[in-house]
Amino acid sequence: MNIPKSDLPRVVIIGGGFAGMSLARKLLKEDVQMVLLDKHNYHTFQPLLYQVSTASLEPDSIAYPLRKITRDSKRCFFRLTEVSSISPEKNLIHTNIGDIVYDYLIIATGTKTNFFGNKSIEKNGMWMKTVPQALNIRSLILENLEQAVITDNEEERRALLNFVIVGAGPTGVEMSGAIAELRNNIVPKDYPDIDPNEMNIHLLEGLGRVLPPMSEESSVKAEKFLKELGVHIHLNTMVENYDGNLVKTNTDLSLKTATFIWSAGVTGAPVKGLNASAIVDKANRYEVNTFNQVNGYENIFAIGDIALMQSEEFPKGHPMVAQPAIQQGKHLARNIIRLIKGEKLEPFNYNDKGTMATVGRNRAVVDMGKLKFGGFLAWFIWMFVHLWFLIGFRNRLVTFFNWVYNYIKFDKAARLIVRPFKANRKIMEVDDDV
Ligand SMILES: Cc1cc2nc3c(=O)[nH]c(=O)nc-3n(C[C@H](O)[C@H](O)[C@H](O)COP(=O)(O)OP(=O)(O)OC[C@H]3O[C@@H](n4cnc5c(N)ncnc54)[C@H](O)[C@@H]3O)c2cc1C
Repeated sequence: MNIPKSDLPRVVIIGGGFAGMSLARKLLKEDVQMVLLDKHNYHTFQPLLYQVSTASLEPDSIAYPLRKITRDSKRCFFRLTEVSSISPEKNLIHTNIGDIVYDYLIIATGTKTNFFGNKSIEKNGMWMKTVPQALNIRSLILENLEQAVITDNEEERRALLNFVIVGAGPTGVEMSGAIAELRNNIVPKDYPDIDPNEMNIHLLEGLGRVLPPMSEESSVKAEKFLKELGVHIHLNTMVENYDGNLVKTNTDLSLKTATFIWSAGVTGAPVKGLNASAIVDKANRYEVNTFNQVNGYENIFAIGDIALMQSEEFPKGHPMVAQPAIQQGKHLARNIIRLIKGEKLEPFNYNDKGTMATVGRNRAVVDMGKLKFGGFLAWFIWMFVHLWFLIGFRNRLVTFFNWVYNYIKFDKAARLIVRPFKANRKIMEVDDDV
């Protein structure tokens, strides 16, 4: 891996997501040799991936080069690599570019898409965890609209203009709202041959309300906003099969569609090699104590989505969103320094700042403690918070400019099929994992 030998303790971080990056930034100025490993050479701001897949933002607005973090210190290194396994008895990590020894190991590998064992969905559906996957969805949506214009087969046209999104969590809700806005604002101008009423957006949810992780009030408001935008909502509906054309559910609903987007869940993405007792089976996440130490190991830590820290307040662990990941990263940086100095570790306490989701222009919902509200103010706060947490000044500026432009012009600037998905489906699928 070409990492120089050093007398400083070596801290290896696997994953430059919210958790890994906030930890790395805090360790930059400390007396440690830090090695950051990631299979992408950039950090992905996942909350705005749906805007890439619905042509509102270009991917470079929401991605940030990881080398820009490590370049600020001569003691810090980035390597582009996928970690395949860990040998904890030798303090050794195995990757596709060689092995590396660590003094302290931090696993921040996040999650992958969960298909709950349904092979038909995994084979034929689309999902969105990474920038290439978001670009695949963008291409597919635009390619399907192009094909709808030219086909003379009515049944094919209906399937091309049917958009099915499964899972009404924040991602599914945001995705449905954004496709509805594409239909309402862009299709009438760009595709005069398509009657916008022919284009249908269906949001399917297995539970009894949209946004199940949020309050009842926010669910009701979000459902109203989605209906105003013309999204068809199907609650208590579980998808059983999608063969690439027909969606079958556990109710009498079945839909023909060429665009099937799966946003119904994630599961942990652990690295092989640790004892089975370190992993909580059902969640596929590492069980950690209040110091983020992985069960059974003193010098191996897990932070962010991959870490399951159970407490009285959070019996199922913290919500799998950006804030716990960021806060755990920062907290662990301080604890590692304490550990090196032989001081007592401090337990992690999550400061819950609330949750929010946007449905579209002027429409969002916010849960902040006892305060729950929706509409323009919530939407404005949603935009402000996302701009604030977006990494990099340039990204903030470009995103802000795009949003202002979209707002004034009712436009989506990035309607480009740069790498067609349909023709290259097989190649694209191996492009990135789930
Ligand atoms: C579509 C979508 C929308 C979301 N919207 C919101 C939102 O609005 N608000 C919110 O708070 N949260 C949202 N989330 C959740 C939030 O993004 C996650 O909670 C957060 O990213 C977790 O951070 P993390 O650092 O644990 O993992 P991640 O950010 O997923 O980072 C994991 C990193 O590890 C790398 N990696 C994984 N395995 C390996 C390996 N074996 N070798 C090398 N590198 C590896 C990956 O490339 C990645 O860079 C959303 C998530 C998704 C997918």
